[in-house]
Amino acid sequence: MLSKSASCAMNQHDRRLGRHISDPVRAQNRKAIVDCLRRHQAAARIEIAKHVGISPATVTVITSELIEDGVIREEIATADRNGSSRGRPRTRLELNPEAGFAVGIKISMHQASISLTNLSGEILGAKIVPMRANRDAPERIAEICMTQIREVIDDAGIDPELVLGVGIGVPGYVEYPSGMVRWAPVFSRPDVPFREIVEQKAGFRTFIDNDANMTALAEKWFGVGRQFPTFLVVTVEHGIGMGLVVDEKLYRGARGFGAEFGHTKIVVGGALCRCGQRGCIEAYASDYAIAREANVLGSTTDIDDPFALQDRMEHLIKLSDEGSPAVTSIFKRAGTMLGTGIANLVDVLDPPVVVLSGARSRSAKAFFTALTDAMESNTLLGAQTKVDLRVNSGGDEVWAHGAAALVLEETLI
Ligand SMILES: [Zn+2]
Repeated sequence: MLSKSASCAMNQHDRRLGRHISDPVRAQNRKAIVDCLRRHQAAARIEIAKHVGISPATVTVITSELIEDGVIREEIATADRNGSSRGRPRTRLELNPEAGFAVGIKISMHQASISLTNLSGEILGAKIVPMRANRDAPERIAEICMTQIREVIDDAGIDPELVLGVGIGVPGYVEYPSGMVRWAPVFSRPDVPFREIVEQKAGFRTFIDNDANMTALAEKWFGVGRQFPTFLVVTVEHGIGMGLVVDEKLYRGARGFGAEFGHTKIVVGGALCRCGQRGCIEAYASDYAIAREANVLGSTTDIDDPFALQDRMEHLIKLSDEGSPAVTSIFKRAGTMLGTGIANLVDVLDPPVVVLSGARSRSAKAFFTALTDAMESNTLLGAQTKVDLRVNSGGDEVWAHGAAALVLEETLI
């Protein structure tokens, strides 16, 4: 039997998670208000009603409930926007950042990046753990991650009871509703029920998704999404990925596999991809594809060794930027392939902005020039539809931050 204090703590935790709410409309309104405050940081009730599109009376009822649950709080603003202290103070509402915490993890071929955030999405702790992901069993990878998560939570002095969940970004085909990883280069076998494995080991609610979707969520909450309700992110690293946000919602498709751009075909019957098929964009534009092509020049880099691959890529980028014609031509071809693929996306989706994300978006100059040229020359209306292309060359910490944002999106209603 639970002690009285444990029972009270659990009730409060459950209330914060909105588990006492059975009316779906009320739950949806609650989530919309929390999301609005995360996006705008602080807002008066009347502004929330305008942003969310619900009546001021409903906002008053739901915000009272959220205040009672400790999820949001009142902030008294005594100055107006011009800094003047004259006039009636406006009562604005803001998230209570300490009401809950989220852990995000990005699993790469060579490391796992962990990020701990509060309810507002501020990073309170982070860790990078080197690993050779595809050489360890998924169960072992889960164990390594869980040990590190506990350390990050301990170091930040957070009560584990207040951790809302763990979000994990994995490259490959992830069936979001079931948490099943159908195929991922970081796992040594297909059909891994990774969410179940992690939940058993960690005891936290767990969400697992394609890692490029996590960069899209990071952009949605902390980047271009604050300005654009619709945008797409193309990720460049060991593989090529994509995340699509439409009207502030991440698009996953019917089965949760959606927006898998890296394995769309750019050359019929072309180069062999690590997914086992041929002619995928990734087989031309990713790290391993560029290093594989460079091996033809005489090097013997093991492209399956993530650490050797990383060193090799840095060296190749340097050679290209210094003017090596053979290496530059490899980067040019890779950039042309990816730029052509992005041009196809622009013609299909007409996004107002495209973000190129991932540490490898800081590629050779020849890669980027070829990419933008190919985008312009292959979109139907060329320069007339010139897309706003932005680069976020942050490393895996951006992806882990997005994975934590997934937990905040999914749990707090
Ligand atoms: Zn492929």
